[in-house]
Amino acid sequence: MSEFETEPADILGRLRELREADAPTHGGHVLSYVYDSGMAELDELAAAAVRIVQPVNGLDPTTFTSVAVLEREVLGFVRGILHGDTDVVGSVTTGGTESCLLAVKTARDNWRKRGGTGQPRLLAPVTVHAAFQKAAHYFGLELDLVSVDPSTGAVEADALTARLGPDVALVVVSAPSYPFAGLDPVEEVAAAALAAGIDCHVDACIGGLVLPFWAGLRPWDFAVPGVTSISADLHKFGYSPKGASVLLQRDRDRQRTQYFATTRWPGYPVVNPTILGSKSAGSLAASWAIIHALGVDGFARLAASCERSTSALIATISGIEGLRIVGSPVGPLIAVTSDDSVPADRQIDPHHWADQVRSHGWLLQLQPSITQDNGTRLPRTTHLTITPVTEGVLAELTAALAAAADEVRGVPPVNPADVLGSLPPLGSGALDSETAFGLLTAMGLGAGGGLPERMAPLLAIMEGLPAPVAERLLTELLARLVEPLA
Ligand SMILES: *Cc1c(COP(=O)(O)O)cnc(C)c1O
Repeated sequence: MSEFETEPADILGRLRELREADAPTHGGHVLSYVYDSGMAELDELAAAAVRIVQPVNGLDPTTFTSVAVLEREVLGFVRGILHGDTDVVGSVTTGGTESCLLAVKTARDNWRKRGGTGQPRLLAPVTVHAAFQKAAHYFGLELDLVSVDPSTGAVEADALTARLGPDVALVVVSAPSYPFAGLDPVEEVAAAALAAGIDCHVDACIGGLVLPFWAGLRPWDFAVPGVTSISADLHKFGYSPKGASVLLQRDRDRQRTQYFATTRWPGYPVVNPTILGSKSAGSLAASWAIIHALGVDGFARLAASCERSTSALIATISGIEGLRIVGSPVGPLIAVTSDDSVPADRQIDPHHWADQVRSHGWLLQLQPSITQDNGTRLPRTTHLTITPVTEGVLAELTAALAAAADEVRGVPPVNPADVLGSLPPLGSGALDSETAFGLLTAMGLGAGGGLPERMAPLLAIMEGLPAPVAERLLTELLARLVEPLA
């Protein structure tokens, strides 16, 4: 008789079984979400580091002094590759979203300290990561999203700098942006922000640990005067398990505003640089171990592999009739759309293509078309993130991309009206949970969880519905996934 209700071997057996149904996290067949160095021994090292700090509470580096050492060394490494001086300080956070949230909160509070009153504005290109929409929502900033060129996804520096003003608490540029892999005009925007006394954040969540080793880029990091903060995710091209990112800030006094501190309760003094209280030190320790194992040379070697694979994929996809790469991608990511310079019966809908590539065993990410504030429409695209593991499977991947293209060339995009026409009419009021669930069921997305085999129709529905309705339906879909079974 064991003291457990269920034997550990059975519990772990079930966990392994559940994991079998997941998208594969290794091997390069999933081209988003996972960042595979392709080095099994690096994953082993990370797992061992997590195990060693498993019982630690990362909340208190004075009690668990290892946490301070790990964090200091991780910050030192990232500050070095991002050309930060000794007046650049920072925090390890639990992920890109937390780094972005804290960059916005810090800028808002500094703006208020400088005398800003009323509602502050957050200024960014429309391609800025959704984490900044979340930040504006959480922290009460007005979101001012500047339209980009719909054919390239690039933003004009002037379009951003023209909108700087005394109510702007923070202007954000990306290095590069997630949707189209564009490197925003950091130098121009940071110079204008500096002249106006406005904070400028560079969101390098995805690029932060790979662009420092990319050839031929214009400066985009702390080497640029006027850049006041940078976010860089360790759990992306730092190859760490999820739960680690860095937020670096220029100027100690600016950064201290990031902290929340109170001695005004009857418990222990709470002094937190980040959003969580008690927290794991696992991903911090894993990141720290990976950084020491790879060093600058190791990161450079892995980046070079990404660069070779990315160039090869750009060449392959550019050579496929009916597809087009959006803009000029910087870093190991690509957005692909339909080439409307060829006749319609030779064009390839990027979402049909992604679905078809999936049937060949590779998972690409579908990105919806959206309308910008200036009325122009950004194309629907398919996203690929390239990691070091890609190089070993490049020939297979290339063959799958080309075969899938041949199989869907000329197939017209899903018409949202065709899908939506079969739905019960939508009332004008806010949807309650039952109504939303009923609509999902009518779309074949109800109970039973799991997404359909083909995603193009789902994306078309989302494109065809007003955003608040689409957002409410997706909320219901995700919420129902985790409701305890009756
Ligand atoms: C991934 C990403 C984020 C958000 O990071 P999470 O770690 O997913 O929270 C922010 N900005 C960019 C450019 C990203 O690629």
